[in-house]
Amino acid sequence: MGAETLIDHGYFSDGKLRGTVFRGEKPAEGHRVILRTQPEPLVLEIGPGGIVDVPINRKIIAENPTVEVHGPHGAVPLWNLSFTWAFTVSGCKNGDESEFFDPADLRVKEVGRDAVYSDVGVPPEQVEAAATLLSQEREVLRELFGIDPAPIAIALLDSDPKSFSFKSDSRGRPVWGIRSSKRRDDTMVISFVVHEWTHGILRENIGIRHSPDARFLEDGLCEYVAQRVYLTLRPAGSESSAAVRNRSYRERGGARDGKNYDLIKLAREHSAHLDAETAAETLIQYMEAMCHDPTEVILGYEVGLAWWVIQTDADPHFLERVLAALETDPDLEVVLRKEQRGTPLDSIPRRDVAEVLGRYEN
Ligand SMILES: [Zn+2]
Repeated sequence: MGAETLIDHGYFSDGKLRGTVFRGEKPAEGHRVILRTQPEPLVLEIGPGGIVDVPINRKIIAENPTVEVHGPHGAVPLWNLSFTWAFTVSGCKNGDESEFFDPADLRVKEVGRDAVYSDVGVPPEQVEAAATLLSQEREVLRELFGIDPAPIAIALLDSDPKSFSFKSDSRGRPVWGIRSSKRRDDTMVISFVVHEWTHGILRENIGIRHSPDARFLEDGLCEYVAQRVYLTLRPAGSESSAAVRNRSYRERGGARDGKNYDLIKLAREHSAHLDAETAAETLIQYMEAMCHDPTEVILGYEVGLAWWVIQTDADPHFLERVLAALETDPDLEVVLRKEQRGTPLDSIPRRDVAEVLGRYEN
């Protein structure tokens, strides 16, 4: 029975799949689930007890979005998490809906091509600080990519909505919301915003072709760029994405001997990719797999990041070469296979991943 049939039979009458997400022993409260829907991704905040409500409707099922979970420092490998899910068949009120914000309701501060939206309650100095950070990030991204990055907007909220999403603003800029409890720590703002901004640059400025197989090549690049920007802006900081990833990688014993990593195989095995035909079964199977084997789901972010660092060690101009090659071929996997030196993306020794991530631990 497919998801459409389930909807027809009223199984998703309230349009929600209620899940509980744990990171290690603790509920992943404050993390967010991101469904990569078009034109805007859907951002769902994980609330107290790790509870998250995922809307299920025909549009989302037809779109077949990939799923990511983001923590305070950017994307979290799904294998650090465990999930339980239940269909909530009834009893969901409108009041429980994910809040959908229109940036037009907020104040706006234009920052060159970008913008900082904010609730009226957000102190002006925080808006200024965010604007400064955004323009610094743009500067570093411009140098790294050699192009003027596609515009982006962030929105500083004065509330802590459990789940929310923004529509693009009137100029078509994607808007990434930051709730009030997250505004205190700007490392989150750097890693989260730069990771998402890099996805935007790859799609809009560079026009890479979307490919599920290449998702960890792309996420590895986003993490790598977030890391570069972080280290440029906060040289003394110890909360960079690599440092955070290294800690979780070590805690899981990821450095133990074993087969070399293959970033394509990891993507095929562990992508949270929903098949539109059989979304319900796929979703259920996927969630069951997560519950029973949370340690082998998405290692891709860590290995992807490490591989980009390894390539840059071998050739400091690796990113430039890749960007030049992408101008003639928008297929990231094809380009990376051609441009890689030394360690191939489908055979990355475990000890090299441990060594590379370990460098950033203070
Ligand atoms: Zn990502």
